[in-house]
Amino acid sequence: MIAFISDIHSNWPALEAVLADIDAIGDVERIICLGDVIGYGPHPVICFETVARRCSLVLMGNHEHAVIHGPYLFNPQARRAIDWTKETLYATLHGDKRSQVLSLLENLPIRHEIGDILLVHASPRDPVMEYILESDLWEGANPAKMEEIFAAFDHLCFVGHTHRAGVFTEDWCFLHAADVPEFDVSDGRYVINVGSVGQPRDRDPRACYVLFTGDAVYFRRVSYDIDAVAGDIRANDALGNRSAERLYRGE
Ligand code: ZN
Repeated sequence: MIAFISDIHSNWPALEAVLADIDAIGDVERIICLGDVIGYGPHPVICFETVARRCSLVLMGNHEHAVIHGPYLFNPQARRAIDWTKETLYATLHGDKRSQVLSLLENLPIRHEIGDILLVHASPRDPVMEYILESDLWEGANPAKMEEIFAAFDHLCFVGHTHRAGVFTEDWCFLHAADVPEFDVSDGRYVINVGSVGQPRDRDPRACYVLFTGDAVYFRRVSYDIDAVAGDIRANDALGNRSAERLYRGE
């Protein structure tokens, strides 16, 4: 079994709770992270170090890309968080650990294939930046976009990025994770959004991740200590209260 985690966003209590859940399950062979380990939250160093240690693969998210190349197209608050994250990573890490972490960060792959399964942070067309949204399925929205996305992989495509867990089907439906906590993917083609560990935006504030057996996906929701991370966000002038408040509402 593979565990897919994504969009941790420097939320250590959420990551710790998810890893404890994975460890308690017991037969997870590997953990794969689909990107955005950092950004928004107050714990970039421990989150990045832990993901680097526990995951067999980490993909490049747009927040890692922003730390390396600059926070273009980010709103002012996300931009301040990126600047603070970069300063913190560079100031906290020293010696061999610093070069290991920074070289991993700078060399994260943007896509990975396991047989007929494609893994990206965002979208097959634009692996780091493009959002695949429920609104892309609405009548007249942008059929060419979904057709191109589904033409870019053979069987399954796992993504994160929107922080909204669920399954896009090839007949243009989006199934919310809450409605399909277990979903058979043995046949057909699906885009599976694994949700967000550290900043869910589907109105369920619990951390979200996915277990994949090869035939089915299981959306897992894990409660964690939101007060702890929200307190650390509020105590940090660079991060802004909205990043704390949204965690309680899952938005
Ligand atoms: Zn994200």
